[in-house]
Amino acid sequence: MPKGTGRCHCGATIFKFDPGTVRWRGICHCEDCRRASSAPMVAWFGVPADAWRWLGDAPGARQTSPSVTRWYCTQCGSPLGYASTRWPGEMHGPAAALLDQGDYAPTFHCYVDEKLPWVQIEDGLKRYPKAAE
Ligand SMILES: [Zn+2]
Ligand SMILES: [Zn+2]
Repeated sequence: MPKGTGRCHCGATIFKFDPGTVRWRGICHCEDCRRASSAPMVAWFGVPADAWRWLGDAPGARQTSPSVTRWYCTQCGSPLGYASTRWPGEMHGPAAALLDQGDYAPTFHCYVDEKLPWVQIEDGLKRYPKAAE
């Protein structure tokens, strides 16, 4: 499996990044990520925006708040990326979209304050009530 490659569910949109540039890997429990993906939590990893590129069909981009842009496949709707003015110059990629799904295992949970009541965190990873420090 090529490292540093991910795709949407239908395969129309692909992303690539330089695997050597991954800065962090974490699971987000915020309501925003949950609603945007209809999932109980989302595993993200962060890379410099200039280490990231899109291939195949261009993704759609949606501004979900004044500071946040989320990308998705225009064919199948898979969420494929996140950026915020809070983390300038950084792209957040969804770990579950990677071709090799074992890559970039998360090392922390963030926004645990917003976690669903039926989600049990028992993996021993560090937890942040809000954003990771
Ligand atoms: Zn797709
Ligand atoms: Zn989130």
